[in-house]
Amino acid sequence: MSVFSHSRIDTYETCPKKYEFTYVLKLPRGPSGIEAFMGSRVHEALEWLYGAVRACRLPDEEDVVARYRSAWDAEWSDAVQVVRADRTVDDYRAIGEKAVRDYYRRYHPFDQGVTVGLELKIGLRLDDDHEVLGYVDRLVKVTDGVWEIHDYKTGASLLTQAKADADRQLALYELAVREMYPDAREVSLVWHYLAFDHEVRSHRAPQQLADLREQVLASIRHIEAQTSFPTKTSSLCDWCDHKAICPAWSHLASIEALPVDERPTEPLVALVDRYADVTARLATLEAEKSDLCDAIVAAADAGGLEQVFGTTSSAKVFRFDGTSVPGKDDAGRAEVEAILREDGLWERFASLSPVALAKALDAGDIPAATATRLAAHVTRRSGSRLYLRTRK
Ligand code: SF4
Repeated sequence: MSVFSHSRIDTYETCPKKYEFTYVLKLPRGPSGIEAFMGSRVHEALEWLYGAVRACRLPDEEDVVARYRSAWDAEWSDAVQVVRADRTVDDYRAIGEKAVRDYYRRYHPFDQGVTVGLELKIGLRLDDDHEVLGYVDRLVKVTDGVWEIHDYKTGASLLTQAKADADRQLALYELAVREMYPDAREVSLVWHYLAFDHEVRSHRAPQQLADLREQVLASIRHIEAQTSFPTKTSSLCDWCDHKAICPAWSHLASIEALPVDERPTEPLVALVDRYADVTARLATLEAEKSDLCDAIVAAADAGGLEQVFGTTSSAKVFRFDGTSVPGKDDAGRAEVEAILREDGLWERFASLSPVALAKALDAGDIPAATATRLAAHVTRRSGSRLYLRTRK
């Protein structure tokens, strides 16, 4: 039985290489970032609050905040990483405390339904071989047949309604809750964006849930079929446990470990610097070439000439005046395609995209039978390319 979680699938989608480090190679995770540390303390404080409410006690606001503070102090380690240079440990501690206070004031006296589970482990069998596990922050029964799945978020960005309506995690939990409690006729998905004192709600139609089940199973099968895991760099790399050994970043880590004055002579640094220098000079030469072309054409036009001569070369001027058709992403492209289709001319002017087809074949995004038939007509190529970017 393969056991996946929303976060495992999400990790693959965020970066296949991170997925490989975490779930294939099972490398130990590094110390947590302070955002995750703060989020855990807030979750614990709210779990404690609702645990007390279930035991028919109603802690006051200061009790819950004291719980948050004491858990922070007990769990704190200097290994917790603060990535953002514009925030301090005290900033995060204060953000978490404010989130707890805002939540307390908004929902006091916490009588919006009966809490059935806290940090509730749930499982969803997708087929005989695949299961999804997850933890619901709080499961609530509002009235008979009416349930709510609550999720606490402490991050610094707020979920839009459109993203909530397309969210996979809580919808997966809904599938599991509906199996656990077949009386559920209405299930609300509820996110608490604690840093914003904001609640987002969403609902799923039965067909959406059925589609989701199929999509998740297809995603898991796709992930299981992978044998190579490319890097996918993004701003999230700064929070990645494996950045120091990631092939996209390990060179940077190694040169940052060198004394500053030795870095320019490190062999790879020197090569990249030369490559950047040549690329910059080529760009200057291309601009100069374009200016010279314009000057020659202007002079040839003025003299009524079609060909002009240097000492060892000649330059022939080609003039063109023809139709321009909108490119793939240009305005009007869809209308042009529609007209050609309607008039039966599409096949004549549409062409195969070798790049798109090769990508689909490499990603396994082609029916197996088709891929087998194509195999005799395609070849494998390997090589390298360099993309030069200016370092921040
Ligand atoms: S550092 Fe970035 S690219 Fe590398 S594994 Fe982590 S998320 Fe992926």
